[in-house]
Amino acid sequence: MKVSQLFTKTSKTAPSDETAKNAQLLIQAGFIYKVMAGVYAYTPLGLRVVENIKQIVREEMNAIGGQELIMTNLQPEGPWAMTTRWDEKVVDVWFKTKLQDGTELGLAWSHEEAILDMMRQYVASYKDLPMYVYQFQTKLRNELRAKSGIMRGREFVMKDMYSLSTDAEQHEKFYQVSIEAYKRVFERLGIGDITYVTFASGGAFTKFSHEFQTICEAGEDIIYLHRGKNIAVNEEVLDDENLKNLGIKREELEEVKSAEVGNIFNFGTEKAEQMNVMFTNQDGSQQAVFLGSYGIGVTRLMGVIAELASDDKGLVWPENIAPAKVYLARLGDEADVITAADELYRDLEKQGVTVLYDDRDTRAGQKFADADLMGIPYRVVVSAKTVASGKHELKARTSQETQMLSSRDILDQLVTSTVENSTSNDQ
Ligand code: ATP
Ligand code: MG
Repeated sequence: MKVSQLFTKTSKTAPSDETAKNAQLLIQAGFIYKVMAGVYAYTPLGLRVVENIKQIVREEMNAIGGQELIMTNLQPEGPWAMTTRWDEKVVDVWFKTKLQDGTELGLAWSHEEAILDMMRQYVASYKDLPMYVYQFQTKLRNELRAKSGIMRGREFVMKDMYSLSTDAEQHEKFYQVSIEAYKRVFERLGIGDITYVTFASGGAFTKFSHEFQTICEAGEDIIYLHRGKNIAVNEEVLDDENLKNLGIKREELEEVKSAEVGNIFNFGTEKAEQMNVMFTNQDGSQQAVFLGSYGIGVTRLMGVIAELASDDKGLVWPENIAPAKVYLARLGDEADVITAADELYRDLEKQGVTVLYDDRDTRAGQKFADADLMGIPYRVVVSAKTVASGKHELKARTSQETQMLSSRDILDQLVTSTVENSTSNDQ
């Protein structure tokens, strides 16, 4: 990606109509564009981050047997009316619209009813179960407040997975597996040590649901943390009886602000019963399908990471989700400087290292400020001086120190760490 051709641009100042730090930073650095409160477009830079987060989630969902599909945003009333969730008194975030003939449609804010309705066609017998499907999709929610930047959008990307099981036992097995997969996702996103499995209010069939809450000042939730036992309790279920059941005491808990980055939920057989979605069991009887629902807020995660991983110069992306690994700043337009920088750009990209190549005719200070603001993990400087000495400058975003290295050594260093990164990600 060449900066001279990049669709987006950084700004000198933060937008004045945003209070959330994540939105201020991401707008200023050119990753998102604000259309209106709670509604953001993602630029080519921002989209790369979204896609990188999605890829990590995708790998972990595939690893536990998830199959990716895509459902629709346009939802007919039928399935939702069967569970009462069409009613705006029950679900207050619906956006609704109409077909030309007046038929009402809903814009999907979640997909439990949609997946159950769909599976009627594909699941008939216990032999067809269990089944795990997931999607990445833009969810639409008419949220009352949208003051947290991309952490609470009216339009946002969610990964939602659904498990269809024959019974509680089969369901419970996968539920536990999914908790572990979620932990791996947050680990890989660099927030594993500050993300807690949190007991929250449950569905129809279970006492608790589980949220994944990341400690974050900008979060909208309050959780009570037991650092020793590595668990947390949402304030909504903080009472004596619940604490006793969990084997923890109120005075051992620390109150912290947090953001819900994921949520897993047991719907039991309630929805399938309401919708009459049945399968034939081993004994020939008709049984309602057991449903689990597993969300991850992809764009909220991007916002949380932007909040947490930043300094006074701008964003500081972890390498595996950064829009590029290297910011290559070319200083000057002498022929030999252009040749050296072009060559390094080509060689890095050829070996799988993503580069943002700043080939603009702007001063060094601007290029360095943009590299820092955009939070690109490494910066390489090629100038008349470095070309003359045969050694260019390499610096990590998080370090003050610079190294002077030949093109060859820069390549080796950046390629090696890229390979290391992707192998550790494969585990
Ligand atoms: P919240 O309590 O924050 O409103 P929720 O309980 O409505 O979240 P779910 O319906 O379980 O959330 O959605 C799954 C995940 O999607 C959440 O854990 C969160 O990470 C993300 N999410 C929910 N609402 C939004 C939103 N308005 N903007 C961005 N991400 C969201
Ligand atoms: Mg909500």
